[in-house]
Amino acid sequence: MSLEKIGDPRDLTHWMGHMETDYSYTYGIAGEKFFKELKENAKIMGTRCKNCNLIYVPPRLFCERCFEKLDTWETVSKRGSVHTYTIANIDIDGSKLKKPIIWAMIKIDNVHGGFVHKLGEVDSKDVEIGMHVEAVFKSRKEREGSMLDIKYFRPAKQKLEKALR
Ligand SMILES: [Zn+2]
Repeated sequence: MSLEKIGDPRDLTHWMGHMETDYSYTYGIAGEKFFKELKENAKIMGTRCKNCNLIYVPPRLFCERCFEKLDTWETVSKRGSVHTYTIANIDIDGSKLKKPIIWAMIKIDNVHGGFVHKLGEVDSKDVEIGMHVEAVFKSRKEREGSMLDIKYFRPAKQKLEKALR
């Protein structure tokens, strides 16, 4: 994959690693429930460690700190912040993209973790580290139990959050 506008090449290496881990991880046992909830209820789920009071997203079956088995599931926020991002101008097959894709590592609010996803409804020049974003889901009909059930994350809108509560 060719990417342009990478500030620090070390970020890219680190970042692509995250993406592969998170996306292949998804087909594990914990992933099954995670994706079922994404698909059926447009909910992002995590698992909580009661000892450490940490919520893992994507969900883990064991706490990485105390090794406790985790079976407490919780719905987590659909919002997070941009931890790091990169802008892809060229597709995986080497062709130039009509519109650049912004990939971001998104840290979900109040949990330990997050995932790599696309940003949407924002111009690449307006993206900032720490920017607050929210998940935009595909419609129920379009959701098929994958990470792509989330269309993208867009800059968080205050009003919408209130309406959803
Ligand atoms: Zn723990």
